Amino acid sequence: MIGTWLRVALVVVGSVLASVAVHAETVVLRGGSVYASPDAAALPDAVIVMTDGVISAVGKSGDVTLPSDSRVIDCTGKTIVAGFWNSHVHFTQNVWRGAGAAPAAALTQHMQEMLTRWGFTTVWDLGSDPRNTLPLRRRIAAGEVAGPNILLAGNVFPKGGHPVYLPPEIQLPEAATPEEAAKWARDWLAMGEDGIKLFTGAFMGDKPVVNMDPAIAKAAVDVAHAQGRPVFAHPQNKIGVETVIASDVDVLAHTTPSERAYSEDQLARFKAQGTALIPTLALFTTVVLDPGVTNRLVAATVNQLKQFSENGGTVLFGTDVGFTTQYDTTQEVELMHRALSERQVLASLTTNPARFFKAAKKGKVEQGFDADLVVLDGDPLSDVGNLAKVSTTIRAGHVIYQKP
Ligand SMILES: [Zn+2]
Repeated sequence: MIGTWLRVALVVVGSVLASVAVHAETVVLRGGSVYASPDAAALPDAVIVMTDGVISAVGKSGDVTLPSDSRVIDCTGKTIVAGFWNSHVHFTQNVWRGAGAAPAAALTQHMQEMLTRWGFTTVWDLGSDPRNTLPLRRRIAAGEVAGPNILLAGNVFPKGGHPVYLPPEIQLPEAATPEEAAKWARDWLAMGEDGIKLFTGAFMGDKPVVNMDPAIAKAAVDVAHAQGRPVFAHPQNKIGVETVIASDVDVLAHTTPSERAYSEDQLARFKAQGTALIPTLALFTTVVLDPGVTNRLVAATVNQLKQFSENGGTVLFGTDVGFTTQYDTTQEVELMHRALSERQVLASLTTNPARFFKAAKKGKVEQGFDADLVVLDGDPLSDVGNLAKVSTTIRAGHVIYQKP
């Protein structure tokens, strides 16, 4: 039987992704082993049915009736988990310029290189030009571009805190007073952004770090929290971490390679305030050339992740991709695994962000949940590197990446 999807696919050979996005269909994954959540036992030889963007059935082969006109993807020998979140990305590369009008194929292709082939179905963009990213998000939602669900955070910098690694010619939103910070936060959220990111510490190269005054940070946090929106921070140094704590920021967007460890007092405050951490460990292997220095940075940040996790804190997977061009997630999951179990790394990609960002229908492979799934070539609980070996990525029931 040649179903509708197949006929569409035959017409557009070479751009299968374009066809799946526009055509509502029932997709079935058959024969794989499923982890419904990071703490669940494997369900071998499973069937997952996805209808209208939702998981309509999960069960053992033979126990689930397959709808007659469905696209079946054979997953024999593979492992299926919930779609991944990358809670720290940037849509700032040249390819996203004019994303509202750019050809969809080029956008889909770069999205694949950067995100979808690594299993990402939801991402937090922690700073980009919304004139590019808001239209990009609309085109993904409309099915024109195959990509992840995008959430955006608008940035606020301290006065005189234009980081050395950002182009000097771009105008950054700086706040000199609490009133200015509150206005930036209100304006970003009114524009359609989903959260705020503060530079509580801005890196100035060989000049001292410029930190944001805690009262200025708190003014932006208050605006975001009044609207139920999360606040991220780039801490950079110890004072930047202290400002996160003092102003009740929700998420540390990085560990802090300049510090060996978090203090007991900081850990107690993280716990009391429910602060989450995005480690971005692999990022710190790319910032200096001296391997001895890199080893020290990695040791310090892995240690912070271990302390933070043992303290009961929520860890969120994130890579800063878009700023870094290291798209492959293998190194990040392997570095995280020095401090966390395989199940904890999987949780940082799935259930942790879903719970932290209150996405009640994401993060698990269960009936009634969003049909955001990743098919992996191997079992990630026997080798954490398998989290980077993606065969198929599905968002809202549509295949957004298929390994050739
Ligand atoms: Zn970043």
